[in-house]
Amino acid sequence: MMLRAFAPVGLALVLVACGGKQGGASQAASTDAGQQGTAATNLPAATRSAATPPVAPPAEATGGFDGQQAYQYVADQVAIGPRSAGTEGDLRVQQYIVGKLQSFGCPVDQEDFHTPTPIGNVAMKNIVAKIPGASPDIVLFTTHYDTKRLENFVGADDGGSSTGVMLELARLVCARKNALTVWVAFFDGEEAFNLDWKDPDNTYGSRELAARMAVSGDLTRVKAMLLADLVGGRNLHVKREGNSTAWLTDLVWSTAARLGYKDVFLSDRVPIDDDHLSFLHRNVASVDIIDLDTLNDVPYWHTPQDTLDKISPRSLAIVGHVLIATLPQLEEKFHPGTHP
Ligand SMILES: [Zn+2]
Repeated sequence: MMLRAFAPVGLALVLVACGGKQGGASQAASTDAGQQGTAATNLPAATRSAATPPVAPPAEATGGFDGQQAYQYVADQVAIGPRSAGTEGDLRVQQYIVGKLQSFGCPVDQEDFHTPTPIGNVAMKNIVAKIPGASPDIVLFTTHYDTKRLENFVGADDGGSSTGVMLELARLVCARKNALTVWVAFFDGEEAFNLDWKDPDNTYGSRELAARMAVSGDLTRVKAMLLADLVGGRNLHVKREGNSTAWLTDLVWSTAARLGYKDVFLSDRVPIDDDHLSFLHRNVASVDIIDLDTLNDVPYWHTPQDTLDKISPRSLAIVGHVLIATLPQLEEKFHPGTHP
């Protein structure tokens, strides 16, 4: 994804972050400011390591969403290694996602396509769990599972975290009695093949799904598209993404506030280009839940340091809790009185 430009508070500086590293970003361990309530929190940062990740609250405290389980899904993806579109790792993570969804009892569609890229024609696959509901109207939860084509890049946060969240969310929704139809889509090819993010070298999977849904007519049934990306950081701060649909952003942020996550879901705004644009451009209400603060929260973005030790099960649990709690609100909005 690409951070278009932003002005850090107190600075008149404008930065474009995509494709290159920002100067001055510290690689030092993040602060775990959001990790209250865990045994690990009281330890000095230096004594914490990958061996002692902060733990997630029990699933009962986060709407049934199991942050520890989501963390395991991230760990499993990282263990596969680099997962750039069209590579062996990409094929392996596809099998992993499909296997998990099937084990949850979710109906799964595998949507293969080929697309021209700067490195030639590449075979890609979108994976979509299509979960029936009382109404044919669709809520679409999405993530990208591919990782950026960089040496030794395993994308724990960028690709891994949101995919772990969406797998755990799919587990819950597939077992739930849904008033609305819910699709959980796992996109291939979000990342640019070139170092720079420059159209059309990005968002291959989301553009493909949006185009297919436009042709099939399914797109007109989509009431809301909710994208997560980079949601696993230990110092998670999610700003309101500037391109996102206002009412849907309000709904997600008010849900987060109600659940006590005002310190994670901030009221600041930042514009970021990402998979949601593929749907926004087709007039589908969409929101991107993303932490791309490369100066503070994710200094490891698009570097080989985007590893499992950067991931907090608690951050995954918070985002999952907000997403699963937003679903009945959407059901109430579009089909009042019908949500389970
Ligand atoms: Zn990326």
